Amino acid sequence: MSTSAHAPAGAGTVTDRLVEANRTYASAFQDPGMDARPVLKVAVVACMDARLDLHAALGLELGDCHTIRNAGGVVTDDVIRSLTISQRALGTRSVILVHHTGCGLETITEEFRMELEEEVGQRPAWAVEAFRDVDQDVRQSMQRVRTSPFLLHNDDIRGFVFDVRTGLLREISPASGGSAPAA
Ligand SMILES: [Zn+2]
Repeated sequence: MSTSAHAPAGAGTVTDRLVEANRTYASAFQDPGMDARPVLKVAVVACMDARLDLHAALGLELGDCHTIRNAGGVVTDDVIRSLTISQRALGTRSVILVHHTGCGLETITEEFRMELEEEVGQRPAWAVEAFRDVDQDVRQSMQRVRTSPFLLHNDDIRGFVFDVRTGLLREISPASGGSAPAA
């Protein structure tokens, strides 16, 4: 039986189909008996992009990692909050940042906030975090994680750009100057 939310369905919203898919999922589900602490002691911070299947792309299995996602995979205060809890309460040690080609944040600018303000009469407190250079954006994100005073472990922080057309990760060197040399 398919668990796909794309399965033919009658009337109903997308959410109705997701809930239906969950019933099928749960009918075959067996309690893996896992601890909340990620097996691989790693947290992955990534863009919310729909084309990025982190578990498949990184060979991750259920229970392996914490996954923290937002528009752009940006290291916001809230991402630092999650990473702090991930490391201090749930034992992770490594951080992997995954941005990607063709990101929606490359198509907008900080003007987005001004446009919002004009439309709704209130400027959001958050930055849009738009960017033009994805490599530089990954470097900035690594730097934000590395310099956070709240984290216990900052010696294994690596950043990558995922190519949505090839599925390959390209590692970004923390220092400016382009990609890290191939290992
Ligand atoms: Zn993106």
